[in-house]
Amino acid sequence: MVEFPESNRQEFIAAVVGKPITHSLSPLIHNTAFKQENLNWGYYAVEVSVNEISECINAVREKNIRGLSVTMPLKEAVIPYLDGLTETAIKLNAVNCVFWDGDNLIGANTDGDGFVNALKSQLNQPLNQKSLAIVGAGGAARSVINSLGKDLVKEIIVVNRSNSKAKEAAYLGGPNARVGSYEDLAACDIVVNSTPLGMAGTPTESLLPVPVEFLSASQTVIDLVYNPIETEFLQQAKGLGASTFSGLGMLIHQALLQFLLWTGQNTSIEGIENVISDAVGR
Ligand code: NAP
Repeated sequence: MVEFPESNRQEFIAAVVGKPITHSLSPLIHNTAFKQENLNWGYYAVEVSVNEISECINAVREKNIRGLSVTMPLKEAVIPYLDGLTETAIKLNAVNCVFWDGDNLIGANTDGDGFVNALKSQLNQPLNQKSLAIVGAGGAARSVINSLGKDLVKEIIVVNRSNSKAKEAAYLGGPNARVGSYEDLAACDIVVNSTPLGMAGTPTESLLPVPVEFLSASQTVIDLVYNPIETEFLQQAKGLGASTFSGLGMLIHQALLQFLLWTGQNTSIEGIENVISDAVGR
């Protein structure tokens, strides 16, 4: 049964839905943001399985829940129950955020633009002459490639173990995107891991998505994995002298875009970065 908390003391309720959901960092991010902006909102983690999604969206409508973050395994399953989708959500066939547009519940996907915003703030230099390789071609890679494909970088190279998925993902990046191999990585300015390899508490925690012999000191290396903050991959890239960034940047920036869709407001990122780094570090 799907149970959203009652908004007794709070003006509005928002939530992240998915399964499993107990370890989600989204409540910490959004509740910090609401506090920073003096908004009397409460944000909760609510466990919802695929067969409960219809009940979940009915409850959102009945209880006037003002925003949803949507995570695994619901990103596609939620689509038939919404009134509309943004252009990005249509292209990706995946929703990570639900917001109200008047009386309509709309599905959006903020992951890719969140990655781009994080990258812009991390690099602090123009992206249009940069070549970027992304390892992996799943949901996270597709969202990143789709956002970068708006002519943001010079070239996107997709490297994935299964070629058919690499091709589908590269298609989202438009004419500047193609499928490549490990050998292509050495010539790229930016290398991104979008596979789950390196995630804490999994059998692949100590595995590398790419042999580090294909990396060098002049590159920026980014891992979309954010737990641990410094994966084995980032540690080894750092050891070579490369600049490294964890997936926390994307995680926080995609959340801030959701916050904007729900509240119409921006909020400063520094306070949130500190709270989340502390939480993941613990
Ligand atoms: P996904 O849809 O399951 O895709 C995973 C990709 O990794 C697939 O392309 C898969 O290859 C590849 N892969 C999986 N295991 C592999 C292995 N052992 N060797 C080589 N390739 C392997 O997952 P996702 O949703 O894209 O998420 C991927 C990672 O990104 C997760 O760790 C997730 O936590 C992280 N993520 C982070 C953020 C953030 O905000 N920082 C947002 C979203 C996701 P095949 O295509 O060949 O199966």
